[in-house]
This record gives sequence, structure tokens and C-alpha cells, in this order.
Amino acid sequence: MSTPRPMADPTTAGRRPKALLIVVDGTRYDRLTAAGTPAIDSVGEAGVLAPSHITDTALTLPVSGPGHASLHTGVWPDKHLVFENEFAGHDLTRYPPLFTRIGELRPDLVTFSSADWAPINDFLIASATTRLQPEEGDPVRNDAATTRDLVHALKDRELDLAYAYFHQVDATGHAVGSDSDAYGAAIERVDGHIGDILSAVRARPTHAEEDWLVLVATDHGQTGDLHGGDEETTRTAWIAASASWIDPGAARARTWRQVDVVPSILRHFAIPVDPAWGLDGVPIGTPGQDPFDTVAVPDGATSTGQLPAGWSRLERTPDSGDPGYRGWRLIRQQDWAREDGGRGRGSFVRSRDMIAVADSRRWGGTGDFDSTLRSPWTPVTPGARFTVSFLSHYRLWNAIPEFGATVHAEFDDGSTHRLWLRLRPESQLSTPLTLTGHCPDGAGQVRIAWRLVDPGTRGYWAISAPEIAVATA
Ligand SMILES: [Zn+2]
Repeated sequence: MSTPRPMADPTTAGRRPKALLIVVDGTRYDRLTAAGTPAIDSVGEAGVLAPSHITDTALTLPVSGPGHASLHTGVWPDKHLVFENEFAGHDLTRYPPLFTRIGELRPDLVTFSSADWAPINDFLIASATTRLQPEEGDPVRNDAATTRDLVHALKDRELDLAYAYFHQVDATGHAVGSDSDAYGAAIERVDGHIGDILSAVRARPTHAEEDWLVLVATDHGQTGDLHGGDEETTRTAWIAASASWIDPGAARARTWRQVDVVPSILRHFAIPVDPAWGLDGVPIGTPGQDPFDTVAVPDGATSTGQLPAGWSRLERTPDSGDPGYRGWRLIRQQDWAREDGGRGRGSFVRSRDMIAVADSRRWGGTGDFDSTLRSPWTPVTPGARFTVSFLSHYRLWNAIPEFGATVHAEFDDGSTHRLWLRLRPESQLSTPLTLTGHCPDGAGQVRIAWRLVDPGTRGYWAISAPEIAVATA
């Protein structure tokens, strides 16, 4: 693996990059927005504050371990392999946490961490210039201690990257329920702590020469007094972010995920990301390239049959069942994640915003679901290689063995070439696929066709972010 070298970044020229990562455990987005939280709101006003959905239970239970691991590694649980709070079987060697990376790539940076939940210290904060661990037992006192120590560090010391963990919102939810007044009061107390930290940042004598990235996030929501499973209150986490390079308009136009935290911090310190690291996220505010995002769902509708310019559909699905799911449709990923009780739809975590779905189970009509989605024609040199990449999320229950999902290349000479096939009833969740083929000698254009055939109407296939790349001969 090559070691990337820091590069100059014009947006932070002349000012020293500094970053603050604050994680408020177990905080529901609906309770956050209902509470009085001027500090977190101020981050959102300068940048973005928005819901940020975690996986559903097809990938992992919504407990704390996976959420914190995703926030610290920049990859989803099927890579870091933290599925519960004991971190058993984790792969943090292959996907090291942020503080480990920073320690290796930028040992010159002065870092601070305070967290009273032992697994964070045991597994995610390998080293920090200052690492505090208040003794577990009194989260309200510990949150105050974390604030006091971080404010002190900001006042008196050189500091580049600080991590602060707040525990009392989650603890209050578990004690008296996340619908309680006490839970809202805990959110407001923590927001007061965050206000004190932000004031300490602004009061630094060197503040004018510093460029601060501020990130505030949670690991999961809650449902009642428990973590729940696929409920919206559990799955709706949130992220607030601001920095000189985060354009609020661009940031508010897309959705952001826990895995975007690490790429944002690396970008802020001008540490180039090596593709070999396998990070799943992007810096917050990165513009999208997905053609599906050019389509909007009309007001009052859940999904739309409209397709991006140049795309087409071959529909053989009968006009029975739910018309909102007849054949390939475009839908916002988070709206689709709620359909039919979720059933793994929410685990398409590598997709964002608009996705294309062929949901035979949700359609539920009589006859065979048979729908083909086609990309625009793309010119290709005869004989040349082409590549199609996309994110795929596939589940089929009780499938009839000879039917399922296929990807074909169709050429303008009338020939076709099968690139991919999935017939067996197996899950393949949130998987990036890259398929390659060659253009026949007699052809000059290619288009890609995604076809789902399901006579049992017992599954779904969703894709996102399709890209077709053509090599010159
Ligand atoms: Zn938690």
C-alpha cells in the first residue's frame, strides 16, 4: 500500500485546519429537532444538519458498537464487522479507526479524546495525545467532566483534533424512555455543553488563524426505552457539519451518512484517501454524479415512473398489483426503506437519495413481474472494452430457480451479452458491482439492461449510481 502524502489545499490556505468531532449517543432526530438546541442548530445554520439513516436489521442490530465503529472507520458494518457492543470478531486491522490513521499519517497532530464508554476507548481510540476516560456510572457528571476538560484543553493547549462523547441522552432514554420529558431535557443539557465547547473554540487567541471543521452526530436513535430494530425513530440518526469548504447549498441537497465523517476529517487535514483503504463515505458536501438524482418524485407520490434523460424501460409486468411499484421505479432510498416493514430495504446503505427499484414483493400483483431498465446508448469503439459499475441490493425469497436478476449489454448491431446473473434466492446487500465486456466488431454503441423476472412476486432488486465507462480501442 502506498502512503499518500499531504497536499496543499487552497480552501484552507493560510489557516491551520482544526477539527471537532462530537458524538451524542442514542439521540432521536425527531426529539432533537423538537428540543431547544441552539448550539447544534448553529452548526447546521453554518453548514448542514439533517437526518442520516443507519442500516436496518438485515445488516446489523442498531446497537451502539456498529454505529460508533462506522463513525470512526468510514466503512459500514459489513466491512468493520462490529455487530454488537463487545466488538467480537471486528476487522479494525483492515479498517483502522480515525485516531489510528491520524496517529500513523500525521503524528504531528495534537489530539484529544474523552469518552466514558469503555469499548470506544478499548477499540476506537488507540492513541491520542490526551485520552480521558471518566469512570462509567454517572453519565450526567461525566458529560460535564468531558466538557470541562475539552474547554480547558482548547483554552490552554495546542490542539488539532478533538473527540468528545456524550452519554446522558442514551442513558436517560434507557432509564425512563425516549418519549419522556427527561430525554428532551438531557438533549438540551448536552447542547449546552456543546455551546460551551464552541464558545471555547471561538475564544481561542489564535482563532482567526484557524479553520475549524465541526461535526456533531449520533450512533443511533431509540424506540421507547430500547434501541428497537427497524423503526424510524431508531434508524433515523443525524449529522451536523460545518467547515470553510462545506457549501451549505450543496450539503443540504444530498443526504449524508455516518461513513462520511472520516472522509470529511481526512479532507479537512488534506490527507489524501488511498482507494485501497476501501472507505465507503465521501466528504460532506461532495456533489453527486448519480443520474437517478436528476429525477424528483412528484408531491404526494411515493415513487415515480419517470426516468433520467435517455433512460428507458421495457415493461412486461401486468397492470395489476400496486401501480406505484409496477416495474422499475425511482424512489428516495429512505422512503423505500420504510415500505413493507423494511425487510432489509434499509440496509442499502451505500446508496443515497434517488435509487431505482424493481420491487416485485411490494407490487404484489397477479402474473409475472418482468421489467427491464435500460441506460442511454453510449458510443463505444468496436472491439473495445467497457465497464459498468453500480450499487446493487438484491433479495429474493422462495425464488423459482430459473428466474431472477440479470445485467445484459445490448449493442446497436442487435447482439446482446450477459454480464451478470443472480438466480438463487440469496441476499446480496448493498454491494458495489463492476462488470466488464467487449464491444463486438460490428457495433458502435452499447446500452446496459437491468432485468428482474419474478413469477413468485417475493423479492426486490435496487440499484444506484450506475456509471458506464468506455475504453478507447
Ligand atoms: Zn448508543
